[in-house]
Amino acid sequence: MPIDATLPYDPDNIFARILRGEIPSKRVYEDAHAIAFHDINPQAPHHILVIPRGPYVSWDDFSANASEAEIAGFVRAVGAVAREAGFVEPGYRLLANTGMDSGQEVPHLHVHIFAGARLGPMLAR
Ligand code: 5GP
Repeated sequence: MPIDATLPYDPDNIFARILRGEIPSKRVYEDAHAIAFHDINPQAPHHILVIPRGPYVSWDDFSANASEAEIAGFVRAVGAVAREAGFVEPGYRLLANTGMDSGQEVPHLHVHIFAGARLGPMLAR
């Protein structure tokens, strides 16, 4: 079910639990501001999720309320994950669903990184 991205942060959402190590994930990266792990239901040959450590529901919440250090750290982490995975030369796509119309399902900001094939049109038609 898509979520309302204006709701308050739910500290028991699935990605909060992954951050705390309460449920397993295949982590590929972590630093002071972010962690990254494989999506459980990949939509491309490579599908990685990058999330900030802070409690932000969505891109909207994060861009309005995170500190400069959190924003810089998170943006740099997304780039670092893609570089470390070798995605830069073949290319990759970023996606951050925000709220109901986007279909966002997990109420903790996450950026999808897709790679490993020609990814087709930006949106399903
Ligand atoms: P959204 O639709 O919110 O942008 O994307 C949520 C993503 O989280 C989906 O691609 C979904 O497959 C992934 N996901 C949901 N639950 C889990 C989980 O428990 N572990 C992992 N690794 N990914 C999950």
